[in-house]
Amino acid sequence: MKPAAFDYVVAESIDAAVAALAAANGEAKILAGGQSLVPMLNFRLLRPSTLVDINRIPDLAFIEEGADAIVVGALTRHHRLETAPVIARHLPVVAEAMRHVAHLAIRNRGTIGGSLAHADPAAELPMLALLLDATLHVVSHAGPRTIAARDFFLGPLTVDLAPDEIVTRIVLPKLPPATGWGFAEVARRNGDFALAAAAATLKLRDGVIGEARIAMTGIDDTAKRAGEAEALLAGRTLTPDLIDTAVAAARAGVNPPTDLHASSDYRRHLVGVLVGRALADAWRRARGEQS
Ligand SMILES: Cc1cc2nc3c(=O)[nH]c(=O)nc-3n(C[C@H](O)[C@H](O)[C@H](O)COP(=O)(O)OP(=O)(O)OC[C@H]3O[C@@H](n4cnc5c(N)ncnc54)[C@H](O)[C@@H]3O)c2cc1C
Repeated sequence: MKPAAFDYVVAESIDAAVAALAAANGEAKILAGGQSLVPMLNFRLLRPSTLVDINRIPDLAFIEEGADAIVVGALTRHHRLETAPVIARHLPVVAEAMRHVAHLAIRNRGTIGGSLAHADPAAELPMLALLLDATLHVVSHAGPRTIAARDFFLGPLTVDLAPDEIVTRIVLPKLPPATGWGFAEVARRNGDFALAAAAATLKLRDGVIGEARIAMTGIDDTAKRAGEAEALLAGRTLTPDLIDTAVAAARAGVNPPTDLHASSDYRRHLVGVLVGRALADAWRRARGEQS
């Protein structure tokens, strides 16, 4: 199938993209990497009047190091996140997770802004944005605004973004000192979307867990944090029994879909196993232990 006809606008600046979106009265779509949008056009799941191509806007593709955060332009490709030394140094959980996103050809085109705006319930980047408490900067004709990642993901393929808003940059706080991380994923084949994935960070304080963060994907309408599991880890030493308790709390907080690839029960079981692995790795790294 071929897409329905649309007007095609190549924006060369953020202002030009904003103007093109405003002119289309909510009927336009932004074209970033095209890895999710183009299949949806070809299946005629979407019939926008206009495509606003943002690929030639230079100030949307960058990775900048700030004092406490890494700021990533929305058009930054997955492969840059996977390979940039500054990401490996300050956000190694991101570099590791990106290797599990699709295939290299797709990672060469797909963008962080596109992945967050698309909000596939099994995607890795929404999970990472929640894990890291990221902030999204967006702009439209009405002006700029910022949205916390925890408020951004509303449902499957649904986010808090008006049709005329562009995500311009994402602020990813650096992992603090004395923080370990873990990431674990299972997909049926290399490059497939995850059946489930989990990521965790543990920040140590006086030898015990000062702050725990756990995020999961593939297990509900959106990626989500395991708030109850996080709360019961604080102030404790990670033991096998405590991992079991946290895993049970994480499983209780998800509502996985059943589909062609896996049942809901299987995904619930799986995400618990993955949370356990991510926590064990985070604890080991926080304590500076080798694998
Ligand atoms: C075979 C295959 C396997 C895949 N496997 C995975 C996987 O394992 N994990 C995973 O996470 N993803 C996977 N993907 C999806 C891939 O990561 C996409 O690149 C990503 O979801 C969308 O990014 P994009 O830049 O291609 O966005 P596009 O396809 O260009 O756009 C997607 C949506 O976001 C909107 N959009 C894009 N940029 C912006 C912006 N700056 N501001 C506002 N709205 C914007 C578009 O209008 C559109 O609605 C896979 C894709 C394919 C084809």
